[in-house]
Parts: sequence; structure tokens; C-alpha cells
Amino acid sequence: MGKITLRNVQKRFGEAVVIPSLDLDIEDGEFVVFVGPSGCGKSTLLRLIAGLEDVSDGQILIDGRNATEMPPAKRGLAMVFQSYALYPHMTVRKNIAFPLKMAKMEQSEIDRRVENAARILNLTSYIDRRPGQLSGGQRQRVAIGRAIVREPAAFLFDEPLSNLDAALRVNMRLEITELHQSLQTTMIYVTHDQVEAMTMADKIVVLNAGRIEQVGSPLTLYRNPANLFVAGFIGSPK
Ligand code: ADP
Ligand code: MG
Repeated sequence: MGKITLRNVQKRFGEAVVIPSLDLDIEDGEFVVFVGPSGCGKSTLLRLIAGLEDVSDGQILIDGRNATEMPPAKRGLAMVFQSYALYPHMTVRKNIAFPLKMAKMEQSEIDRRVENAARILNLTSYIDRRPGQLSGGQRQRVAIGRAIVREPAAFLFDEPLSNLDAALRVNMRLEITELHQSLQTTMIYVTHDQVEAMTMADKIVVLNAGRIEQVGSPLTLYRNPANLFVAGFIGSPK
């Protein structure tokens, strides 16, 4: 399950109101993309959902449970960081197993999950290498593997491909879309790239200065942008 509901969520940093008040429903299994210009609050919103930041006001519900005060580890979500967050001294296998070791899971179950993730992500052939011996795309797969083994209710991605070159970005975009199709798990994906949003999302959330300008499918946003901001950002002919 991976239904996430935000009710009247507000975030302030000191005097600065970054998210004035935001309501959003994310359904179980949806691929939702948060898109908007730099500084509009995409990362902050994702970090609030992950529990890496506390809301200033409002509620976050995960599968109907009030998660507003829950620490990140209790929320059952997995944040996929950019690939440079891997441990350079550990093999791929150990990097992927790391969150399960921390959770003191039984070794046989760790092995089963790591092998399963390696198979899904096609990284079995380099499982005993260290990150320094891998390409950018391979490293990004390892970062995703580290999330998969936790069998989360939802995956949270914050611009995971921004370090990769253009060709690899297109490739990884397809891989993440395929991963979503095979796992059918909720994914929230942050990007400032309109093309990523339009090609990957079931549902796009267009953000501007901490407010939602529009929520809808790529086709809806393209055909019926709510206003000039959305039209300009998505590139539709309004
Ligand atoms: P985005 O990811 O869309 O580029 P962010 O969520 O990172 O935007 O930032 C939104 C706004 O909140 C920006 O104005 C940023 O400067 C501010 N902000 C983010 N994190 C902090 C923080 N820890 N302290 C103060 N201001 C912050
Ligand atoms: Mg950001």
C-alpha cells in the first residue's frame, strides 16, 4: 500500500513561508511527478513526506495513518538519493544490504532481498565491485537497489538523474518507468525537467512558489493548462 495524503501542509523556515498551505492526494501505485522551477519547494515537499523535515502545520497521512510526527524510519518510504550517496569502501552487495543490516534483519532474508533487487535491476554481474569501479548509470541502479530491498510503500526520488549525461538520462528514465510498471509501487519523482515530467508521470503536480498551480495527467496539462504559468512551463500552446 502507498496512499499518501497531505492536508493543509505548511512549511516555514524562520520567517520565510516556503509552502503556505498544500493539499494533495497520491493514490496507491501512482507515479506522481512534482515539477516546477528551481526554488519552488519540490525538495522541501519531498523531505516533508519522507519525514526529513517537520511540517510547520497540517497533516501527512500514509495509508490512512497519521504520519505527521513519525520519524523517517517508521514511515515505510524509501528516498532514492543521487548515486554519489553510495559508500565508496563497500561493494555493491554491501551497499544494497546496508539499510537491512541497520534494521537488524536476518541474514538469509537480506540475501534473498539483495539478490532479488540485483536481478530486477540487472546488476548481478557487478555485485562484488565497489562504486568507484562502476559507470554513472550502474551507480544510480545501486542507489535504487538500496531502496528496493526495503520493500517500501512508496519510493521518493529527488532529481535522481541530474548528475548523468543526456543519453544516460534518457536510458535511466525508461528504466525507472519500467521498474514502476513491474513493482506497481507508488513513486514520487521530483524534477525541474518538463520532458521527464511529461514522459514518466501518471499525474503531474505543477508547483510554483510553494503552491500547486495544477494537478493532472500529462495529457490534461498539455491540452487544458489551468493558467499561463502551467502552459508556459509544460510548453502547451495556450
Ligand atoms: P526546489 O527543490 O524546488 O528547488 P527547495 O525545496 O529546495 O526548492 O527550496 C524551496 C525554498 O525553501 C527555497 O527558497 C530555499 O531557499 C528554501 N529552503 C529550503 N531549505 C531550507 C532550509 N533548510 N532553511 C532555509 N530555507 C530553506
Ligand atoms: Mg530541489
